[in-house]
Amino acid sequence: MSTAEVYDYIVIGAGVQGSFTAYQLVKRKKKTLLLEQFTLPHTRGSSHGQTRMIRKAYDQNFYTHMMDEGYELWAQLEREAGVKLFRRTGLLVMGPENSRSYLDFKSTLEKNKIPMVVLTPDNFNQHIPNVILADGDGALVDTTAGVLYADRALKVAQGQFHKLGGVIKDQEKVTDIKPGLTVTVSTSAGVYQAKGLVITAGAWANELLAHVNLHLPLEVMRINVCYWKEKVPDSYHVNKRFPCFLLTEGEEAKDHIYGLPSNEYPGLMKICYHYGSETDPDQRDKKTDCADIDILRRYIARYLPGVIPEPAVVESCMYTLTPDRHFVVDRHPAYGNIVIGTGFSGHGFKFGPVIGKLLCELSLGEVPSYDLSPFQISRFQTMKSSL
Ligand SMILES: Cc1cc2nc3c(=O)[nH]c(=O)nc-3n(C[C@H](O)[C@H](O)[C@H](O)COP(=O)(O)OP(=O)(O)OC[C@H]3O[C@@H](n4cnc5c(N)ncnc54)[C@H](O)[C@@H]3O)c2cc1C
Repeated sequence: MSTAEVYDYIVIGAGVQGSFTAYQLVKRKKKTLLLEQFTLPHTRGSSHGQTRMIRKAYDQNFYTHMMDEGYELWAQLEREAGVKLFRRTGLLVMGPENSRSYLDFKSTLEKNKIPMVVLTPDNFNQHIPNVILADGDGALVDTTAGVLYADRALKVAQGQFHKLGGVIKDQEKVTDIKPGLTVTVSTSAGVYQAKGLVITAGAWANELLAHVNLHLPLEVMRINVCYWKEKVPDSYHVNKRFPCFLLTEGEEAKDHIYGLPSNEYPGLMKICYHYGSETDPDQRDKKTDCADIDILRRYIARYLPGVIPEPAVVESCMYTLTPDRHFVVDRHPAYGNIVIGTGFSGHGFKFGPVIGKLLCELSLGEVPSYDLSPFQISRFQTMKSSL
């Protein structure tokens, strides 16, 4: 067997979290290898597609706090690379006015002094045309929110990593990990060693963690990414200042619906359901479940009169969900030089630069910049008895 290539750190998985972690490590002058099983760029994980929503509106303070720095780091990357990655649109949050989740969103924004506008049923359509506000719903706009250009962002993060001397090897599936003071990683094409390893493998996390005797309670879900045609072109366009929107809760599972203004496909608006059907990540495109599309059809027919309630384009993506929908950002319980970032539960893209920084800090043995207790593995207590 040929001798192993030696690095300071190896990162497995070149999605948004792995790419930003690798970038942070190389910025800290660490010799870093980023391994990816598919040829880059690819559409088979969770970080592809043209857009993602970015917002400070959350129902938990800790996410809103992290996003303060998140916005700064996205802007810093834009400056470093000279590429536009963010477009401000605002985020319209709607939900039953007295419901817990709507009030949690509102109070988190208030407590953290995030600029927002509260709309009333009387002035709603002056600000948001072509949307029907459901009876009893409250509406507010997080004016800091907007759209991230996702594919472009990933390319930029990987490009900056490469520019600073980082090594990317795609089309190399990791097939084995041997823990130890020096970690040995085998792929379909080679063997590599490093003093530290970061596993950011998205929907494949448990497949890799099995090599280091760990199993996390993750559910992998196929998501239909639906685009819907506007009846009058551009009536919900980003240039007409139409915002992103999300529903906090309501009848007929409305709470799982969110949308982005038309932008990437001319005349098509992205409206999706924040839930799907369980899948094996290697079989994602073999079966399409359409229950979510039926819910979206009914919602659009009733509340978005300017949109044809039939999807024009359906793409697919995956969520890797934890039981509490909070992330996993932690060290391996038995091997301190193996760090894990997974379970981003359908809302992790906007945090990419912050998660990259945190996983880098954990790898370097530093005190992380945020309290990571909501993201610890110990909350699951499902480690294999062999540990
Ligand atoms: C439809 C949809 C809409 C979303 N909308 C938003 C949004 O509006 N805002 C937001 O903030 N977030 C959003 N998200 C969530 C966000 O996109 C994800 O949380 C994020 O992309 C997860 O990134 P990741 O790096 O963990 O996973 P991935 O992007 O899947 O990256 C993991 C990588 O690891 C690689 N890998 C796995 N196993 C191996 C192996 N053995 N060897 C080598 N490589 C391997 C995979 O090929 C993959 O490239 C959305 C997600 C989806 C699906």
